[in-house]
Parts: sequence; structure tokens; C-alpha cells
Amino acid sequence: MESPGINALKTALSEKAWTDDPDIIAPHLSEWRDKYFGKTPILLTPGSTDEVSAAVQICAEHGLPIVPQGGNTGLVGGQTPQGEVLMSLKRMTRIRDVNPVSDAITVEAGATLHAVQEAAIAADRKFPLTLSSEGSCTVGGVLSTNAGGNHVLKYGTTKDLVFGVEAVLADGQVFNGLTSLRKDNTGYDISRLFLGAEGTLGIITAATLKLFPQPGHVARVLMGVASVEDAVGLLTRLRGPALAMFEVMPRIGFAAVTDNFENERDPFPDTHPWYVLADFEVETQDAGEAMVMALLEGAMENGLIRDAVLAQSETQFRALGSIREHMSAGQKHLGGSIKQDITVPIDRIPEFFTRADAAVEQIVPGCRPVGFGHFGDGNIHYNIAQPESADMAAGRAPFLDRWDDISEAVFDVVDGLGGSISAEHGIGIMKRETLAARADPVKMDLLHRIKTAMDPDGLMNPRVML
Ligand SMILES: Cc1cc2nc3c(=O)[nH]c(=O)nc-3n(C[C@H](O)[C@H](O)[C@H](O)COP(=O)(O)OP(=O)(O)OC[C@H]3O[C@@H](n4cnc5c(N)ncnc54)[C@H](O)[C@@H]3O)c2cc1C
Repeated sequence: MESPGINALKTALSEKAWTDDPDIIAPHLSEWRDKYFGKTPILLTPGSTDEVSAAVQICAEHGLPIVPQGGNTGLVGGQTPQGEVLMSLKRMTRIRDVNPVSDAITVEAGATLHAVQEAAIAADRKFPLTLSSEGSCTVGGVLSTNAGGNHVLKYGTTKDLVFGVEAVLADGQVFNGLTSLRKDNTGYDISRLFLGAEGTLGIITAATLKLFPQPGHVARVLMGVASVEDAVGLLTRLRGPALAMFEVMPRIGFAAVTDNFENERDPFPDTHPWYVLADFEVETQDAGEAMVMALLEGAMENGLIRDAVLAQSETQFRALGSIREHMSAGQKHLGGSIKQDITVPIDRIPEFFTRADAAVEQIVPGCRPVGFGHFGDGNIHYNIAQPESADMAAGRAPFLDRWDDISEAVFDVVDGLGGSISAEHGIGIMKRETLAARADPVKMDLLHRIKTAMDPDGLMNPRVML
């Protein structure tokens, strides 16, 4: 029999705002990595902040927990319900306002990141958050996970790109923090509490985001380098106001893309142990390219670069970026993969690799580390592919069974280097126990106290983070 709470939702909400059709719900219950599978009695799809508020109020009255979902691209299981009410913001996609004078854009939570970037471009502005998932991930999701991506080096993480949010609280009240004020010292910054909260404090329904001037030209370079040490040395050498992106890929991950995708091509005649993809935002193409060429020549003379390609056309620009974009997908060709998203201080990246590679090799001899990502932020997606064997399919499950052992070994190295067990993907379900075990107890206590103050009945994404 259906619960009174679910009945109340069906009665109160408009027809478009809910469904219990299993075929419509199904895609919302699995995720990108096929690691989490969920269940829910109902999918809510509100079309407005008022409708979100009405639904949350009913859930509060009936003690029904809620899991918010945006584009369902999260990588730590936070958006997958396990019997809770599932609320997708996918119908709330309006760009409410673009203000090039205040350099601000106000958008609803279900708008994709790509839609926000496009709206900014239409106003001759730039919204600098860039993720490979940008066609699907949403404003609500990126704010709730404090997403990072490729341009953190220059523009910061999502937290640095938000003026304020509108959010529905656990009791259904609407908090309106939408503003384009750059200065507002009137007490605690409530909007910021929702950034990185992973839906545990309320449901973000809209946000006012920061815009930036469009760069005159972006010069993109792919470089082959000999070692992680050289990649970090190169970062130090290239860093400056123009450097907007510094992404690193190991040969194994690079080849997994160029060998397996029809349209991906290795632009170099020789192979290299590591590859660095860098963007420089410059005023004009000619002056910018001259500056970049001078930097590259200096780095080559110092032996930091083995080879380099500077994108000469829009097509080549996209082709170089596409290899990096396919790094996650490419690794599916290496079999089972145990994935970590960690940060360490930039100067300790080489030490991280030495220690982590040794630690995982001890647990599963022959496993293949594929550490790639946003080295400019000290952020490494430290994935470990299963050992190569005659029967890769048979090796997959036993390898993935070692997920926890391998993760703990990696986290020990991260902790030893003063790093973080979650750089940009969040805690979700995947790292909840790890956070509890490893975080500073005072921090954990404060996290719990904030959660209890804002969601006393524990109905907002209750299995996530805490
Ligand atoms: C191919 C690929 C590449 C990626 N690259 C990056 C990367 O470079 N950097 C990076 O940081 N991440 C990356 N991600 C992870 C992911 O895209 C981000 O975490 C993104 O921010 C999630 O947005 P989403 O809309 O899909 O959120 P979802 O997956 O739907 O949800 C994520 C979390 O946010 C909560 N949530 C969603 N919407 C709301 C809302 N309106 N209010 C409150 N809580 C909400 C959910 O409950 C969940 O806890 C990548 C993912 C993929 C698949």
C-alpha cells in the first residue's frame, strides 16, 4: 500500500511534477560508473521554486527523506536514492537574467553548465567553469558538489564563481540569497553553506553566478614530457596570469584514448611518458602565440619539454582538448578501474606518485596506475586499472573487490602528504565513512551541528556525507 506522504505528493503536485512510471524513473537510478543503483517510490520533477517548496513541505510533514538530482553525473553516489523520494530539477532550466554590467547571470538549478556558458557567450562574457560533463551536469549539481574542472588554476572552484543562491530549506521555506553584490558583510554567508553541501542542507533552486570578460584568444598547447617531476617543473615555469589550464595525462591513459576512439589521434611522431595540455588566455592571437612560443622554447632549452604542438585552428584546438575529455571514457578499455579524486600540495605531486604507485603495487601486483587531471591545482584523478591478463573480463571482479584496500592505501599516502581525500567530486556515499574516520573531529562535530541546525529531522539527502 502507498504511504500517505506519497499520496499527498501525488494529490498536491501538478501532473508534470511527478511520476511513478518505472521506465521514466529508470535512467535516474543508475549512474555513469555503474557503481550505484537505486530505488525510489516516486520521481518529483517540479517546474518552479514554489513547486519545490510545496513538495518539500509535504515531505517534511510526512517524514519523507529526499534526494535531489541534477544531471546525474556525480561520481560519488550522492544523487542515487535508496528508497527516498527522488527530486530532479531537470524542468527548472530558465536563464532568469544576464547582467553584463554587474557581470552576473541568474539561472535556475536545472540549467546545464553548457547552457550557462552559452548564455554568457551570447552576452559577450565568459562563465569559466569547464567540465567534461558540462553538456549534462547542472547548476544545482555543480554548486552542490563545488565542482572544479579545468580552469580552477585561473578562476577558482565553483565556490569562487557564485554570488548567492536561492534554496528551499528542509521545512519548505525559501531562502533568497540571489544577489550580484560583491560586498555584503551582513552576518554569516548563508549561500555558501549550500556550496559543496551535496543536497544535505536543502535544495538549490537558482543561483546568481559571476561572469568574466571573454579572452581575446586562447592558445592551446599539447606537450610531451619525460616525467611527473618535469610536468611540475613545467607548471612552475609556465604559471602566470595567462595560464588558464594545466592538465596532465600519463602515456597509458593517453594511449587508451588515441588507440580506441576512431576520431582521436596522437599528434606526435614519438610516444612520451607524460602529456601536458595547457591553455593560455591572451589578448590577441599574434602577441599571445609569440609569448607562448617564447615560453615553450625556454622550457625546451631547459629539457622540460620533449615535444610540443600549438593548436593552429579551431579544429586542432578541439582535437587536442578532446583527448583530455575522453580520459575517463578511454579507461573503460583498460578493464576494471578503482578511482580516486585527491589533492596534494603541488610540490608533493611527484612524491605522491612514488609512494602511491608503490603502495598499490604491493596490494595488487601488476595493477596499472593512471593518474591524470588537474595538476595545476594539485588535483590528481588517481585511477588504478586492473592488471593486464589473458582474460581481462575474469580479472575485473576480483580486482574491483580490492577497492577499499587500495583506497585506504592511497588515502594513507594523501594524509601523509597533507592532502585531501576528495578534491572536487565530493563525499557522497563513496567516501562518507572515510571522512568520518579521517577528518579532524572538531570539523566533523561542526559539520554535524550545521546539519542538525538546518535539517533537524535529517530528511535532506540523509545517507550522504555525514
Ligand atoms: C565524464 C565526467 C567528467 C567529470 N569531470 C569533472 C571535473 O572535471 N570536475 C568536477 O568537479 N567534477 C567532474 N565530474 C563530476 C560531475 O560532473 C560533477 O560532480 C557535477 O557537479 C555534478 O552535477 P550534476 O548536475 O550531474 O549533479 P548530480 O550528479 O545530479 O548530483 C550531484 C550531487 O549534488 C546534489 N544535487 C544535485 N542538484 C542539486 C540541487 N539542485 N540542490 C541540492 N543538491 C543537489 C545531489 O544530491 C548529489 O549529492 C565529471 C563527471 C563525469 C561523468
